[in-house]
Amino acid sequence: MPLSPEQQAEIDAQRSETQPTLRAVSAGMEAHLYTAKPVLDHGFVRVIDYMGDDAAICQAARVSYGRGTKSVSNDEGLIRYLMRHWHSTPFEMCEIKLHVKLPIFVARQWIRHRTANVNEYSARYSILDREFYIPAPEHLAAQSVTNNQGRGEALEGAEADRVLRYLRDDAMRAFDHYEEMISTEDQQGLARELARMNLPANTYTQWYWKVDLHNLLHFLRLRADSHAQYEIRVYADAICEMVADWVPFAYKAFEDYRMGGAQLSSTALDCVRRMLKGEEVSQETSGMSKGEWREFKAVLDGEG
Ligand SMILES: Cc1cc2nc3c(=O)[nH]c(=O)nc-3n(C[C@H](O)[C@H](O)[C@H](O)COP(=O)(O)OP(=O)(O)OC[C@H]3O[C@@H](n4cnc5c(N)ncnc54)[C@H](O)[C@@H]3O)c2cc1C
Repeated sequence: MPLSPEQQAEIDAQRSETQPTLRAVSAGMEAHLYTAKPVLDHGFVRVIDYMGDDAAICQAARVSYGRGTKSVSNDEGLIRYLMRHWHSTPFEMCEIKLHVKLPIFVARQWIRHRTANVNEYSARYSILDREFYIPAPEHLAAQSVTNNQGRGEALEGAEADRVLRYLRDDAMRAFDHYEEMISTEDQQGLARELARMNLPANTYTQWYWKVDLHNLLHFLRLRADSHAQYEIRVYADAICEMVADWVPFAYKAFEDYRMGGAQLSSTALDCVRRMLKGEEVSQETSGMSKGEWREFKAVLDGEG
């Protein structure tokens, strides 16, 4: 269960406290503030705080004394221009602070994004909850035969049952031993900072994660992408929904230029120009390696 009734009551209490403010407010983001979006079997992501909105990006870009916005279409055009030309600092003027509950193996991928501020739940100080990520059967997949870093078809039948049983049993046994080791009943009890080392990587952890919009979009570009592992992608997808409501113009530009767009090398661009002139270009005549050509074709065919 992502949230206990007590935790939900605390969140509801926070949501009921309102205050007048002179700060920029995004109506779309206000709806998300404090609400926990469930992710995976026990995880969630929720917005704790945010700063700025689409107008704040324009305000910073224009180094304005006032709100810095002109007409709505003018603001959207400016944001698209900034995104198109990699003029990134105005996007850094917006910030978001998230509370995320996630399996440790997902946290290991996430923490590689160094341009954020993190404070994680301390398993030296606190006792971890008995919560493990167990994939839904459709996500329990075999090793991909085409991609060393991915998964293929879902496991089936007895193999799927056996794997699920191993995942559950191993996690439960590790947690039984964890509780037994830290217990102070009739024994000294092992320090929490040591006992935790026996827990599996699917144990849930939690952190507060604060990042500016520019670096958040970079994170989303990499982690909401189809090449990212499913278990981190679902978090990125949940955050994408929040960002779309928070800064709709910036998110639309991001979808267009970054998520939906593609970067072409000068060799690839040259091939496009030759193709437009009617030339039949093949991998052999393209000047690209087999891998590059495959990726280039995927972009042209709308599969990249
Ligand atoms: C599909 C996928 C597969 C991956 N596979 C692996 C893998 O097999 N092994 C592995 O180790 N990692 C892997 N990674 C992690 C990846 O290499 C990056 O570490 C991670 O995506 C964070 O990206 P970043 O450094 O751009 O982000 P951030 O740390 O947020 O940095 C953002 C940008 O800031 C700049 N920056 C930040 N810190 C520095 C610095 N110290 N010096 C210079 N510039 C800096 C860079 O321009 C960087 O792009 C994978 C990532 C993805 C998405």
